[in-house]
Amino acid sequence: MDELLDWKCPKGHVLGQMRRTGRGQMVLLLYREAVDPKHPGRKPVEVLGELHGSMLGISCSICSKRKTWGKGEMVEKFESVNV
Ligand SMILES: [Zn+2]
Repeated sequence: MDELLDWKCPKGHVLGQMRRTGRGQMVLLLYREAVDPKHPGRKPVEVLGELHGSMLGISCSICSKRKTWGKGEMVEKFESVNV
């Protein structure tokens, strides 16, 4: 089973989920709308798409903070989680 980790904006809203593929590549399942973990909505989360590579300035639909998706950050996240 794939390991999924939340990918959050600087304020902690969940923008999507990170997945490590079998070949060790990092993929972001980007949500259409950000999810606030403290106030989760009742409607199901819609995934906009699967992002391979990098994307600059993804904006949070809740607080409008922007975040860049890139390989470096993802590797860092996985390493910090696996400690
Ligand atoms: Zn946010």
